[in-house]
Amino acid sequence: MHYDDIIIGSGLSALAVALGLREAQRRRVLVIAGAESGLRTYPGANVPAARGGRGGMGEYWHGVIPLSLHHRPAGLDDDSWVRLADHFYPSADLGGHIGHAQYFVPRRPIRPADHFAALASQGEVEIADVDAVRIEPGQGVGETQGVITADRQFSARRLWVCAGALATPALLARSGLIDGDARSVSDHIIGYAGQVDADEATESMMATVRRGPEGVFFPFRFGGAHDHFFTLRPARFDFAKVDAGIAKRAVFGLPTSRIVSGLAGNISPGLIAEAFYNKFGLFAHAPRYSVYFQTLAADAYLLDADGGLALNPDRGAGGATAAPNATVPFANVARTRQPELYIPGIHLHGSLTQPECEHFGPEREFCNIHLVDAAALRDIGPEHHSFAMMAAAYRRAITLASQD
Ligand SMILES: Cc1cc2nc3c(=O)[nH]c(=O)nc-3n(C[C@H](O)[C@H](O)[C@H](O)COP(=O)(O)OP(=O)(O)OC[C@H]3O[C@@H](n4cnc5c(N)ncnc54)[C@H](O)[C@@H]3O)c2cc1C
Repeated sequence: MHYDDIIIGSGLSALAVALGLREAQRRRVLVIAGAESGLRTYPGANVPAARGGRGGMGEYWHGVIPLSLHHRPAGLDDDSWVRLADHFYPSADLGGHIGHAQYFVPRRPIRPADHFAALASQGEVEIADVDAVRIEPGQGVGETQGVITADRQFSARRLWVCAGALATPALLARSGLIDGDARSVSDHIIGYAGQVDADEATESMMATVRRGPEGVFFPFRFGGAHDHFFTLRPARFDFAKVDAGIAKRAVFGLPTSRIVSGLAGNISPGLIAEAFYNKFGLFAHAPRYSVYFQTLAADAYLLDADGGLALNPDRGAGGATAAPNATVPFANVARTRQPELYIPGIHLHGSLTQPECEHFGPEREFCNIHLVDAAALRDIGPEHHSFAMMAAAYRRAITLASQD
């Protein structure tokens, strides 16, 4: 079967490509969505690291969209970002907040599987719920690219590789396009610096929490040279003392449904209050606040040829808590006694090296194969990266499809 474009994967980056391609009329697009193969988790933790099947990790993500756009993936421009933001959240005016130290938590996160089902029913894409086993690249502009699955072969003028941070390197290695050695993968971690009492600075910050019909705008502060991202969260009930209930905060990084199930056996009013603030912006003002940060943990994990993840003994994620703890941008913080504790940031990225990425894309050796997923993201800074990744992928799809 021959297509104009084949998208390998069906997560957030794949969805952005499909929406970009739709802007050029009359294209035949195939989505090789990935076989349902369940969750892979972080080493030693029940935290999702990758998911095979329609929607990928996009079926779990919290949907948080940072608005400062301080760190930008290659190819991102404001116009594409705003068009994509308006597509999903038409009344939120996210574009009007670009450059602000804020992040947006939508009431309804973007769920790629639902959007792909809609695109398929409108005849915009065909979907095959299988894995790509390997790619057979054609050389040169306009040559046919092949994708082999377990029982079929497809071809297209252009391929979009969106198999995610853990699966894309394995797919490219099976195809002989990169080497198959173990490699490192980067992440964010979420840390806890301690607590602050309410004062003029905290109250003027929390006064900027804004709830709208499509979601909530929350303030944050950068620390260091825009290296770390700090938030305040109301510290109530059992959370009102430094370090109290810190283990319970481990559910912070999990999907909301897991927060609820996590609470079922371990009811904590402090955690419930924090979860209501995180999701709905409710009860923002409190006598005390917990100070959290998110920061980069470069090369924190090792990825084997089968997509298995292990802590990188040379780097580890834990060492990444020291720098943010040294640059907390609030006065009079009562410090945690456990600064080494962290929660995996669930933002795995950068499993391809820059030299590997440089073989793909326009005017490169593999000019009709485009790497636009989290595997190909290098410097994401401390902010949640996924929507910026989507906007960069969307722009590339619009640009290339309009040149055909
Ligand atoms: C609980 C949780 C909360 C999160 N919250 C946020 C947030 O608020 N903000 C944010 O920015 N980020 C967040 N993230 C991160 C975000 O989910 C990921 O960065 C994003 O989903 C990655 O998208 P992707 O397109 O790169 O790949 P993935 O979502 O990993 O999708 C990969 C796709 O490829 C398919 N696939 C794999 N192998 C093959 C193959 N061989 N052939 C064909 N298909 C294949 C899979 O089936 C899947 O569809 C969160 C993550 C988690 C787990």
